[in-house]
Parts: sequence; C-alpha cells; structure tokens
Amino acid sequence: MTKKILIIGAGPAGLACAHELSVNKTKDLNVDVIEMAGQVGGISKTIEFDGYYYDLGGHRFFSKINEVNELWKKTLPNDFLVRERLSRIYYNNQFYNYPLQIKNVLLNLGMVESFLILLSFIKAKIFPFKEENNFEQWVTNRFGSRLYKTFFKTYTEKVWGIPCKQIQAEWVAQRIKNLSFVSAILNALPLKRKGNKIKTLITKFNYPRYGPGMMYEAMAKNIEKNNKNFKVNLNSELVKLDYKNKKWIATIKQKGSKLLVKEYDEIVSTMPISSLILSMNYDIPEDIKEIAAKLKYRAFLVVCLVFNKPNKLKDNWIYIHEKSVKLGRLQVLNNWSPFMVKNKNYSSYGAEYFCSEGDEIWTKPDKELVELAVKELKLCGLVPKDYECIKGNVVYAKKTYPVYDEFYRDNMPKFIEFVKTIPKLQVAGRCGMFKYNNMDHSIYTGLLAARNIILEHHKYDLWSVNQDEEYHEIKKE
Ligand SMILES: Cc1cc2nc3c(=O)[nH]c(=O)nc-3n(C[C@H](O)[C@H](O)[C@H](O)COP(=O)(O)OP(=O)(O)OC[C@H]3O[C@@H](n4cnc5c(N)ncnc54)[C@H](O)[C@@H]3O)c2cc1C
Repeated sequence: MTKKILIIGAGPAGLACAHELSVNKTKDLNVDVIEMAGQVGGISKTIEFDGYYYDLGGHRFFSKINEVNELWKKTLPNDFLVRERLSRIYYNNQFYNYPLQIKNVLLNLGMVESFLILLSFIKAKIFPFKEENNFEQWVTNRFGSRLYKTFFKTYTEKVWGIPCKQIQAEWVAQRIKNLSFVSAILNALPLKRKGNKIKTLITKFNYPRYGPGMMYEAMAKNIEKNNKNFKVNLNSELVKLDYKNKKWIATIKQKGSKLLVKEYDEIVSTMPISSLILSMNYDIPEDIKEIAAKLKYRAFLVVCLVFNKPNKLKDNWIYIHEKSVKLGRLQVLNNWSPFMVKNKNYSSYGAEYFCSEGDEIWTKPDKELVELAVKELKLCGLVPKDYECIKGNVVYAKKTYPVYDEFYRDNMPKFIEFVKTIPKLQVAGRCGMFKYNNMDHSIYTGLLAARNIILEHHKYDLWSVNQDEEYHEIKKE
C-alpha cells in the first residue's frame, strides 16, 4: 500500500528528509514537500538581486557528520568550492583576528589592559560564580569578567536582544564548549602544533559557487528526479492539521488557488514548532499551547549593498562588537565566492541586523535601513568614505534564532515530552525543534526522520542530535 507522507518546509532538514526517502527503493511512498516561500532553502537560501547573490548570514558548510558531508558532495559534485576562513572582530575602532592572535590582541588592547584581563581571569578562578546558569556566569567563570565584557557581551546581546544574564548557559555550552582561557591563549600563541594536544578552529570550509541556496535547489531537483511520486511544492503553506481516524488531514494554502485539503499517513515538520502546535486540531493540553505561544524567536535582516569600487576587506565576515552602531555582522560576498558578485570591480556586502519582529529595526522602511547600513559601514571605516552605494535591498527572515531564555529552560522539557507523544508526527531541523541546530544538524535530523519512516518505527532519537558533542568548529590537529 502506498504510504502518503507530508514534509512541511523545504529548508535543509525537510529536503534532506525527502531526499533520503526518494533514494529508498524498499517502500512505496508518495511524498509532498510543501514550502510556503517561492524558493527552497529556508534560511539557508540564496537571494539574487540583478546578478548579485546574497547569503542570509554566511553559511559555512562543514560537519563532523560523514553522511551529511557525503550528501553535500554528491549533490553538488562540481560546484562545491573550498574556501579559506578569515573573520575578524571589530571593536573600539580596531580589528582583532579571530581566532585571537596574541600579538594582535596585545597590540590592540595595550599592556595595561591585557594585564588587567589576566588579573580578572585569576580572580574568576579564585572566586568563581557558584552557579553557572546563564551566559554571563558561564563565560566569566572561564575567561574572567574583563575579557567577557571585551569579547563576548556586546555582540551576544546584539544577537539575542536580551541581557546576557537572561541567556541560558545551555546555549553557550553548546556553542563554545571546551574553549577556555588557556586554550584561547594557546591557540593565540604562534606554537608549532603537535599531536592532538592543541585544538584549533576550522580554517577552511566548503561553499557552493553561487551560495548555499544552490545546494538546496539541486537537492530539490534530485528529489523529483529520483522518484516521480515526490513533489516539492512552492508557495504552499500549511495552515491547519487535523487528526482523524489515525490519519493527518492537512489544509494547505497555495498562492493564487483554493485551499487544498489532503490526507497523509505521516508528517515530518520543519516549520517553527510553535506555529505547528498552534495550527493543530489535536488533543493538546492548554499548558502546552501556552508554551508554544510563548516561545520566542529572534529575527534577522540583511541589508544587501553594492558599492561602485573594488572590495578591500580580506575577511569572509566581520563581527561588529562596536556598541555605537546597531550593525551586528558584515558579510563580504566577494570573499565567500567571487561568482556571487556580477561586477568584480564592485564590492558586495551583506550588512546583518539582528532584531525582533515589530521592533525599531524590523519596522524601519527599506530605504532608511539602506541609509543606516551605509552610514554605519562608513562610520566604522569598513567602507571608504568615497565609495558610492549603487544598489541596496533588504531581506527579512522572521524566525531564525530560537531564544534560550528562562522560560525556555523551565518549560521546554515538558513541551518536548508532549510533542514526542503525538502519533505519526516527527519534528526536525532548527526552528522545527526549537534548537540551535546548524545546517548539518538540521539535515541529520531530516535523515533520521526519513529512516524512522522507512523502518516503520520511531527509533532514531532526533532530539539526541547536536546534544553532547564537542564544539563543532574545533578540529584536532
Ligand atoms: C544568520 C545565520 C547564519 C547561519 N550560519 C550557518 C553556517 O555558517 N553553517 C551552518 O551549518 N548553519 C548556519 N546557520 C543555520 C542554518 O541556517 C539552519 O540550521 C538551517 O537553515 C535550518 O534548516 P531547517 O530546514 O531546519 O529550517 P529552515 O531553513 O528555517 O527551513 C524551514 C522552512 O519551512 C518553511 N515553512 C515555515 N512554515 C511553513 C508552513 N506553515 N508551511 C510550509 N512551509 C513552512 C520556511 O519557509 C522554510 O523554508 C545559520 C543561521 C543563521 C540564522
């Protein structure tokens, strides 16, 4: 009997799930992927403006999960470039290399400040916070309060939009686990690295010739090629999910046509988990609905700019720790892939602003956002004063960062336990699981969801992905 599967969302997780199902020959499957946007890729898509390609953020492709690397390579055999990583921190009118380099740090901070940082580190070791519940406590215990204020606080608060005291330690443990003051110093010293003793950050990564979206466009095509019963439907939004007689009935809003109502045996959802729960006509307790409504997501927008002169920055991206500007990060598209910039004598930048839906940044008209970005880039000296901006566009992404605040910490375990009890429904991906998953984690959850469908049991635990692993950017030398 043909099994009908609905996959909600054509980002990396949804497409990986569909792809894994499409190569399976043991089951008779009929699979609909529905994507509310007009293109695939989710927040890993590429946006094009008149021959200039923009990544929403900068998406490095690297993973410790072999199956994910294999899938990426197989999907884009000829267009997966190897790129050198260079990223710096801009703070107090100076550039700091990232990972930190001792000479550069000492020169920028000066001997007195560096000494004070060392003293504050020693103080934190002697008198640590007894509890490590939040970001501030976690980082201060490992780096001292002075280094925390210099290199962690401002940028982190720009990203999350809440004080570091409210960000749960869980997030930082996931992101910079195993990085310590000592390892940062060791990494910063020009030592000859031997054996496995010193761990460094990954300095190379893969990147599709025309940005991350190219990978997911290719994956979507392969899915439909692999199996004629698979379809990736764009401009198709899930609006309601009913459960009747052990079947799921999806109501799908398609751009320009009537609502489509269709029955499925199983669902894999990668849409934001709160919207999913709130769209379900299923026996959901009131407290679970309340949690769904209260989980917070951080939004994000990119001001895409072309300047009329050559790019002089050598970085792929620059973290803007400077307090005096709202800019959070700058992507230098010329350096991600030269193919993404139509005129090689021009500079193409993605100025990233972290925000929340409805806030002061989010609601600014596009024209003002372009003016703000140009002004701030020139103020920081990242773009020379005589460069003229000849194109400016804004791209908005609503739900990009699941916020790990106190409410999340207190309520998520109960919420997850309930979600696990819903029959024939698996949630995967980043906002789909409300988890700080990168592309590789998101993809892997998609692959596992597919295997659970093929094996007809939900044995693979998607929640264990990106759990207690070593910080994913560290490599052993
Ligand atoms: C600024 C930034 C930088 C990043 N950099 C990196 C990086 O360098 N490397 C890395 O590996 N990862 C990076 N990531 C993470 C990466 O973007 C995500 O892990 C990945 O895109 C998540 O994939 P997903 O499929 O789970 O979700 P998404 O990409 O969010 O896709 C979900 C899809 O579901 C669709 N959808 C939502 N609701 C509905 C509905 N009701 N009906 C139908 N469709 C719906 C959405 O339109 C979307 O296309 C970054 C993320 C951000 C925000």
